[in-house]
Amino acid sequence: MNSKDNMYVSLGVSPRLVALANDVEESLKERFAQIDEVAEYNQLKVLRAMQQNRVSEMHFHGSSGYGYNDDGRDALEQIYADVFGAESALVRPQITCGTHALYTALASQLRPGDELLSPVGLPYDTLQEVIGIRESNGSLAEYGITYAQVDLLPDGEFDYEGIRAAINERTKMATIQRSKGYASRPTLSVKRIGELVAFIKSIKPDVICMIDNCYGEFTETIEPTEVGADMIVGSLIKNPGGGLAPCGGYIAGRKDCIERAAYRLCSPGLGKEVGANLGVNLSFYQGFFLAPTVTAGALKSAIFAAALYERLGFTVYPDSKVSRHDIIQAVCLEKPEALIAFCKGIQAAAPVDSYVTPEPWDMPGYNEPVIMAAGAFVQGSSIELSADGPLRPPYNVYFQGGLTWYHGRFGIVMSAQKLLEAGLITV
Ligand SMILES: *Cc1c(COP(=O)(O)O)cnc(C)c1O
Repeated sequence: MNSKDNMYVSLGVSPRLVALANDVEESLKERFAQIDEVAEYNQLKVLRAMQQNRVSEMHFHGSSGYGYNDDGRDALEQIYADVFGAESALVRPQITCGTHALYTALASQLRPGDELLSPVGLPYDTLQEVIGIRESNGSLAEYGITYAQVDLLPDGEFDYEGIRAAINERTKMATIQRSKGYASRPTLSVKRIGELVAFIKSIKPDVICMIDNCYGEFTETIEPTEVGADMIVGSLIKNPGGGLAPCGGYIAGRKDCIERAAYRLCSPGLGKEVGANLGVNLSFYQGFFLAPTVTAGALKSAIFAAALYERLGFTVYPDSKVSRHDIIQAVCLEKPEALIAFCKGIQAAAPVDSYVTPEPWDMPGYNEPVIMAAGAFVQGSSIELSADGPLRPPYNVYFQGGLTWYHGRFGIVMSAQKLLEAGLITV
C-alpha cells in the first residue's frame, strides 16, 4: 500500500475496498482521458471569452441600488452568451434557482391562449407546478396557457409522429429537458437535442425551443444553443457556478427571447439595465472559470460510482460504459438499509457537517420519506457531492457532484464502506 492508500485506511476504509477502488479507477483510464480532453477544450473556450470581453479587476466590484452601469454584470452576461454560442444572456443573483430561471423563461414568452409542448415526456418535478400539471397558485395554466406532452418511445427515441400530431396553431413554445433528472429515461446529447429542435421547426418554424440545461453544461464541447435552441436555462448552484456561485441562475439565447425574459424578471421597460450584483460578481466569474474542470471531476465521480457499484453487483443508470451528457448517477440499491448506508457514507465524507447522520424524513410533495446527504459549502448545492433518494422500491439513490474528483472518489468509497460495515456487501 502506498501513502494514499494508507490515508484511505486511516480515514476508516477497509484495505480490500481501497484495492478494489484502485482497480476500478485503473479500468477507467481511457474514459477519464476523454473527459480531460473535453474539460481542456471548455477551459480554453471560457478563457477566450474572458479575454475577448477584456475582463479586468473592476468587473468584480459590487454594485448597489438600481445597478445601472454595472459593467461587471454586463460583461459576465456577454461571456456566458459567447461561451454558449448565444446572442445574449441573463446571469443574475436575482434568479433564485433553476426552477425560477425556467419559470421566468417560460412565462416571458408565453401569452394567454398559447400552448407549451414537452416532446420528451414529463418535466422535472418542480416544473410540474410551474406549468400547472399539478395544480398550483399562479401556474401557467391559471393564465390560460395550455400544455401538451408527448412521451419518449419505450426505446428512448423521440416519437416524431406523436410530436407532429401535437403541434398546432397555438403551439408557441417547446420545453426540452436535457438531463434525465430523477426519471429513468436516457439523458439527451446536444446532437439529439439539435435533431429534435430541427424537426419541430420544420413543422412550425416559429416555435420557441427552450432547453432545461440543468446538470448538462460543460459535459460536452457544445451547448444546445449551438444546434438551434432558442434558449437554454440552468442553475448556478449546479455546473456553471463551478461551486463558487452562492446562488443564481442563467438564461442564454436569442436576443429577443432574452429581452422578454429580462422584462419578465425585472419589469417591462426596465429589463437588463437594472439589477445590482450585491457583490457576487467575483464568485460568478471565478466559478464560471472553474466550471469546466469542476464538471469534469463530477463526471469522473459519476462514472467511477457506476463502475464500482457494477463490480459490487448492483444495477446502475447509466452504466459505466455509455457516453455521458449530464452528471447524475443512479444506483439501484434494492434495500432501504442500503440506501440509508450509502447516504451516510456520502455525508461522512463531506468537508462540512461530516459528523451528522442523515435520516429519512417526510418531505413536502413526496409520498414516502426521503433521505438526503449533503455537506455543502453552499446550501443545497448539487455540484457539490450530494446524494438522495425516496425510501421506496427499488431504492434508487441519485448521486451527483464533487467539487474535485478526489473528493468524489472518497465519497463513493465511503458509501461502499458503510454498506460493508452494515453487512450488505462483501469485497
Ligand atoms: C435541478 C433541476 C431543476 C430545478 O433547479 P432548482 O435549482 O432545484 O430549482 C430543473 N430541472 C432539472 C433537470 C434539474 O436538474
